[in-house]
Amino acid sequence: MKKKVKTDEMTIDMIEGIGPTTMTKLKNAGYMSVMQLAVADPYTLTIDLDIKARDKRKNLLRCTTGSSQLDNLLKGGIETHAMTEFFGEFGSGKSQIGHTLCVLAQLPVEKKGLDSNVIFFDTEGTFRPERVEEIAIARGEDPDKILDGLHLSKISHSATLELMVKDLAKYVEEFKSKMVIIDSLISLHRAEYAGMGQLATRQQRLNVLVHQLLRVAENYSVAVVTTNQVMDAPDTFFGDPTQPVGGNIIGHASTYRIYLRKSGENRVARTLDSPYHPYDEVRFTVKAEGVTDPEDKKKKIVEEALENEAV
Ligand code: ATP
Ligand code: MG
Repeated sequence: MKKKVKTDEMTIDMIEGIGPTTMTKLKNAGYMSVMQLAVADPYTLTIDLDIKARDKRKNLLRCTTGSSQLDNLLKGGIETHAMTEFFGEFGSGKSQIGHTLCVLAQLPVEKKGLDSNVIFFDTEGTFRPERVEEIAIARGEDPDKILDGLHLSKISHSATLELMVKDLAKYVEEFKSKMVIIDSLISLHRAEYAGMGQLATRQQRLNVLVHQLLRVAENYSVAVVTTNQVMDAPDTFFGDPTQPVGGNIIGHASTYRIYLRKSGENRVARTLDSPYHPYDEVRFTVKAEGVTDPEDKKKKIVEEALENEAV
């Protein structure tokens, strides 16, 4: 007699009539259980199967942040196929990074850009097109061209953000964008699901958001950048709602978390994974040209370059 298997324990191998090619595609896309397959909507499933099988690592790009120090911390810049979270207290430079990326992501790959349009979701009403103009001009770029390549969406309800993210694949294709910035990701949910009793719902909705973002990042070679305001140092908080969510559906997409804090005129950025590694903490600053290296660092980089030339 056949052993009875519960529905939620059934794997896709148990489904009759799926050919070996489709089976491999499904597994590569992270679909292991019958349940996962049952709850996937047809549109997402088609995208996953069509695109997941490709070798996405081949076209991985990195976008400069404007600061070579911050780029070093990110191992060369903000990665496509990944989600990068900047978090820190008010005024720590999260939105300035977002504004700077609006310009830099549009630059050609030779200039360390992504040669792409930019989608910007402003959930805090702090986006300033004039600031993007200022950064473009300070960097010798045509401000009108940069503003043309920017698709801004001001969002004031979590439900709207959820809808936009759900349809993000469509927007990314329509606007030919490899850079999606969400400033900030969780503030609307934080405000709308504020009660203790709503914590689980909030968490669950944010998990869905993050999953959807990672899926678009991976399947469309997009760099997703999010911000998150926190009051305390990251070591001291628990149950953070933006904690990367795992699961095999995500596949290769990775998440980088960068903590920002003010330090006099400068900003300090550090990765959360290894806070004790000396190279995992760097300094950058914010000027008319947006994010950039502090003066002393700039001088050092020029000196080093000259020394190398002299050798
Ligand atoms: P919040 O959590 O409140 O959104 P944030 O981390 O997004 O904060 P930003 O708006 O990125 O903070 O940073 C604001 C700071 O950036 C200002 O206090 C100022 O120090 C710096 N800044 C903004 N514009 C310029 C500029 N044109 N030149 C130099 N510094 C600037
Ligand atoms: Mg901000």
